[in-house]
Amino acid sequence: MKIICIGRNYTEHIAELQNERPTEPVIFLKPDTAILLKQAPFFIPEFSDDVHHEVEIVVKISKVGKYIDAKFAHKYYNEIGLGIDFTARDLQAKLKEKGLPWEKAKAFDGSAVVGDFLPKSEFNSLENITFELTSNGQTVQKGNTSHMLWKIDELIAYASQYFTLKTGDLLFTGTPAGVAKVKADDVLEGFIEGKQMFRIQVK
Ligand code: ZN
Repeated sequence: MKIICIGRNYTEHIAELQNERPTEPVIFLKPDTAILLKQAPFFIPEFSDDVHHEVEIVVKISKVGKYIDAKFAHKYYNEIGLGIDFTARDLQAKLKEKGLPWEKAKAFDGSAVVGDFLPKSEFNSLENITFELTSNGQTVQKGNTSHMLWKIDELIAYASQYFTLKTGDLLFTGTPAGVAKVKADDVLEGFIEGKQMFRIQVK
């Protein structure tokens, strides 16, 4: 399986990193070895002094597809979850500066927290899902899917032009504002509509 991630999908997050607003979705991949299951600790890698949390809505692909039309994209997933796209911001900044790929900063072991999933039938609208990340009990990131520049179905349509989507693939849909450095002993908890989806101890 593979993890397809979207960057710069929320205006306020683009602003906080002083990035350019993209004209098309920004896409990168993580390998399956990046997955950190909920309740496993996250170890800050030795190559970074500035690992940031990015809480994101995660979509689990349920059917093989290529060149999926946005209006049929909803047939390709049944579950919505929450995760963290851990990012070594210091390393990413160096790579960005040189125009190099981001993988070392984004796709390292443990960089993709995958929490619980909920059936999409539980939501009134996928375009109005509230989600939140707390660090040591304090809210640090809060988002709503209504603020996405590209909606889930548009992202699936776009990504499937380049990559065949397979059952079990995960789509990380981008982070809202509030990304920040994690430190040892932090406890990160993610919530969708107030329901806990993961709890991660940073080490
Ligand atoms: Zn991200």
